[in-house]
Amino acid sequence: MSLQPHAAVRPLTTEPWTLTDSHYQPQHLLLQETLLSLGNGYIGSRGTLEEGAAEGTASCEGTYLNGVYSSEPIHYGESAYGFAKHNHKMLQVANAKLLKLTVDGETLHAETAIKHTRQLDLQNGVLSRHTEWHSQSGKQLRLQSRRFVSQANPNLLAIELTLTAVNFSGEVVLQSGLDAAYPGFYKKDDPRVGEMSIADSLTLLRQQFSDDNSLMLHRAKGTHFIVAAAMSHLLPDNAIVLVQDDTTPNKLSQQFSVKLVQGEAQTLHKLVIYCHSADIEAGEALSQQALSLLNRARQQGFNQLLSEHQQWWQQYWKQADVGIDGDVALQQAMRFNLFSLAQSAGRNGHSNIAAKGLTGPGYDGHYFWDTEIYVVPVMSLTQPEIARQLLTQRYSQLDAARERARQMSHSQGALYPWRTIGGEECSAYFPAGTAQYHINAAIAYAIRSYYLASDDWAFMQQMGAEMLIETARLWLQLGFFSSRSGKFEIHMVTGPDEYSALVNNNFYTNAMVQLQLRFTLQIVQQLQAEQHPLLLQLGVTDAELQQWQRAADNMYLPFDDKLQIHAQDDNFLSRKPWDFANTPADKYPLLLHYHPLVIYRHQVLKQADVVLALLLLDDAIPQAQKQRDLAYYEPLTTHDSSLSSCIHSIVFAETGDTARAHAFFGDSARMDLDNHHGNTEVGVHIACMAGSWLSLVMGFAGVRSRADGLHFNPQLPAQLPGLSFRLNYRGRLLQFSADQQQASYTLVSGEPLTLFHAAQALTLRKGEVISRVLGEHL
Ligand code: BGC
Repeated sequence: MSLQPHAAVRPLTTEPWTLTDSHYQPQHLLLQETLLSLGNGYIGSRGTLEEGAAEGTASCEGTYLNGVYSSEPIHYGESAYGFAKHNHKMLQVANAKLLKLTVDGETLHAETAIKHTRQLDLQNGVLSRHTEWHSQSGKQLRLQSRRFVSQANPNLLAIELTLTAVNFSGEVVLQSGLDAAYPGFYKKDDPRVGEMSIADSLTLLRQQFSDDNSLMLHRAKGTHFIVAAAMSHLLPDNAIVLVQDDTTPNKLSQQFSVKLVQGEAQTLHKLVIYCHSADIEAGEALSQQALSLLNRARQQGFNQLLSEHQQWWQQYWKQADVGIDGDVALQQAMRFNLFSLAQSAGRNGHSNIAAKGLTGPGYDGHYFWDTEIYVVPVMSLTQPEIARQLLTQRYSQLDAARERARQMSHSQGALYPWRTIGGEECSAYFPAGTAQYHINAAIAYAIRSYYLASDDWAFMQQMGAEMLIETARLWLQLGFFSSRSGKFEIHMVTGPDEYSALVNNNFYTNAMVQLQLRFTLQIVQQLQAEQHPLLLQLGVTDAELQQWQRAADNMYLPFDDKLQIHAQDDNFLSRKPWDFANTPADKYPLLLHYHPLVIYRHQVLKQADVVLALLLLDDAIPQAQKQRDLAYYEPLTTHDSSLSSCIHSIVFAETGDTARAHAFFGDSARMDLDNHHGNTEVGVHIACMAGSWLSLVMGFAGVRSRADGLHFNPQLPAQLPGLSFRLNYRGRLLQFSADQQQASYTLVSGEPLTLFHAAQALTLRKGEVISRVLGEHL
């Protein structure tokens, strides 16, 4: 169906490299807190105000640690065997952004400021603020702050606060805090949000002050994790002095007296360290670690720390920046999306990337297939090291996936959880959770895309192949050779489209399993050739390999002869069509207005399903078939999931409708900046952000990473005068740029490379630019 018209919510200005809040807008505060979040893959910190939200203003404080979680039992009214038992929640930790100013007993707040702006600088990863404020006693104060979560130092958050007395000389009071008791956030009746509260996540073990620093040590409830948060201040000589320490459980606060001379600025720096350990006994060692990291940061000083952080971003943009000509809103959006991916992706092999990144409480911070189908393909071609780390994290949970397979009565193989943090299945609603077995194929697909882009055989030997084999085994356990069809069938699963559940032979799932089995067989052959011990260790036999081959060769791929389209599953096409004409706009997303059964009975889609398969199966499906499938399914698709638009954009581009491709691209690129789905308040949509990059690269530039190399097939929509981006491919950095007439390829660094433009081989040498006129191949 056509994209729903969105109310234009644009609470931040539109500029190529910045997001600016030009004045205080309480009605948008919650949304801005998400959009102005800072993170480094480990720490995530929402863009809340230093003084906290004003009374009665909707706000959601949140500082999170990736890969660390609390765990609580799931309570079912009616439970059954094998239901997920625990829910993990991304850990909320103490808020250290608190800095409150008091002048003559009155507290400064953005709400009562005479001037207030905040700006997120995407190029350097710094959130800055400028507030001018008048006290009732007539004093005018200027507050400026700069905040960053260091990309160079995974444990560090730093804030600079500069105060200037505009029309007076005298003393003001500054209170700086570490708060582990901030209010929780709860959205009833919205399964995408749930409840998150720091009080339910942490148990206080210890808190302490010393001359230079303060520390809190907590245990994450229901787990063995302990976390430390430590803060320290760097003060200018004499002008800012500590006058008082206050402590109540879960709240530490220090009060400073700031002597201001009219017109002269005084600057204070606040440094904060977060770290954790999975060893509950390691409290003492962890406290020491936090304090020593803090000490080291103090010695380096704010400016040095900031400069290292900025260097990281400079390096990042050299590899990842995307240029969009003639459209500032899309240019800004693409940079913001790439910025958010870099802020949220775990990169220590123990953390992954949550559906909402590290920007809010949505989905409890869970990891989904979003990582493998959307994020890893982007990272594989921009930041391959991060792609490897994300896959390494999945490898670290392979044993848990094996255990889950046994719980689900599969005697062999591994079944990855639909949603999790620690490796255990956390989905309390199995029809749209556990039943999405396709996550196994998604992990295999991601391993394949990383491998195709990086050629990293060592990864395959150490981790990739084992995951491929164990997840492949599961399919033979789940599916069966049917005497009815003579084919390999897979029953009772849910495909990507969550508006159909528990179906037989979901086309997407079956086709992705076929792709996985074929690829796994190919990797096994390579391992056999080098007599790799893994095959023996895992007990892979010839008979088993033959079964995989047989299943792949005989995979049942539902097809409707009359309509000449792929059927989403065995029953989908026989269902009653959804009555779109009589569904008012305010009934979307359907999941918030209709019982799941009502939705499941109809031909209606939440998101790309067959259409996603059309993309991922690449040239295995002929263009004419893709056009027919797209023409049937898109009108039935609500795009209620943010994962949908980008995929439609790519398949429209591939099949020649660049105008619709551009519209879907715009929807996905600005999903969060314009709050298209009305829920960015609880976190950005990471898969959609990654998808917007895929729309540009796979859609308009037609990039496909195949066994024989990298293929481009560019065709820009009329609305897009020019496009450029870089790819990190098999150890080379490539620059691509195109306008309406031609495409140019440059090898920025690395060994010569042969790639394909419209199926024509081009060999690039470093520094050389090769251009080709567009459309000649059509
Ligand atoms: C989508 C899933 C997705 C999840 C997390 C749901 O709304 O239907 O495909 O994995 O959101 O982003």
